[in-house]
Amino acid sequence: MKLKIPQPISAGIILSYTCSSQCKHCIYYSSPKWKGNWMEEELLIETLEILSDMIKRSSFISFNYGIHFSGGEPFLNFELLLKAVEKAKKLNYTPILVETNAIWCTKEKTVLEKLEALKKAGLDGILISVNPFLLEYVPFKRTELAIRCASQVFSNKVLIYQEIFYYEFKKLNISGTLFLHEYLKRGGYGLYYAELLPVGRACYELSFLFKKYPSEVFFGKNCKTELLNPYHVHIDNYGNYITGFCAGLSLGHISELKSLVKEGMDLKKKPLLHILMQDIKLLYQIAVNEYGYQPLSQGYISKCHLCLDIRKFLVSKNVNFQELSPKEYYQQVI
Ligand code: SF4
Repeated sequence: MKLKIPQPISAGIILSYTCSSQCKHCIYYSSPKWKGNWMEEELLIETLEILSDMIKRSSFISFNYGIHFSGGEPFLNFELLLKAVEKAKKLNYTPILVETNAIWCTKEKTVLEKLEALKKAGLDGILISVNPFLLEYVPFKRTELAIRCASQVFSNKVLIYQEIFYYEFKKLNISGTLFLHEYLKRGGYGLYYAELLPVGRACYELSFLFKKYPSEVFFGKNCKTELLNPYHVHIDNYGNYITGFCAGLSLGHISELKSLVKEGMDLKKKPLLHILMQDIKLLYQIAVNEYGYQPLSQGYISKCHLCLDIRKFLVSKNVNFQELSPKEYYQQVI
């Protein structure tokens, strides 16, 4: 049975999973512990060329259109980021955006020089992350410097994600870093209003913020919507084509994308994806009955927590589903 994958509308390229921080909410389990391999230039160019015929262009500065570069922290390899922007510009992507955690923003002159160079190469705008998980690693004064310089270079094409935290940290007079428990002691009000996805590292590191449910609560749910979502797809530095927020689950290699869209994906070759498109209960039953998975006694914060916990278990048992990629993702999951 073949399943057609919708043509992507907007995409992010994960230049590397390596990051200066190890945020408790990170979907991609980025951290300094990753091996540090960056996307090969050849793969980067191939990826941009393949996506070029598909990605929707727009004059809006939005992650729902065009292309963006992310990680990990893309500014840790500025040379590669610059090349990526230059190539994207040649292919007429718009908008071309980048995300950053601002760790590199120590000196105003250097920050301005880097942003100007990116703008000259074709970058349209920038997203600067602000949240209490990042605040454990990045001094807030660096975030403020990044926002000030970015506003100078890109004027209103600067996205602060999430703004609620930016104003909250200013009100709290923070300039350095702050541990999460200290932030929570001081109120942590931003968390009541902010978007916090119960996926990735949050499933384990932030489970105390969520209500937990037994696995049965999620039975009957499938992941068609997420896996076939054409918006904000990601291609990682290994070439994995990732949809939704389903980090560690590859629909295939980017070089296969045109055929996945035109001819469809052979579900016999991707049994795990086939199962997830039907009912997460099937994944649970296979894991328990065939491989001896033991459900978590404390329960799960979401369908994705159950899914990730089972996937991590399967990889630890060397069960070889090709969809479970990159394998290093699972080595990061505690
Ligand atoms: S349950 Fe798994 S496949 Fe489904 S949306 Fe969550 S991470 Fe993706």
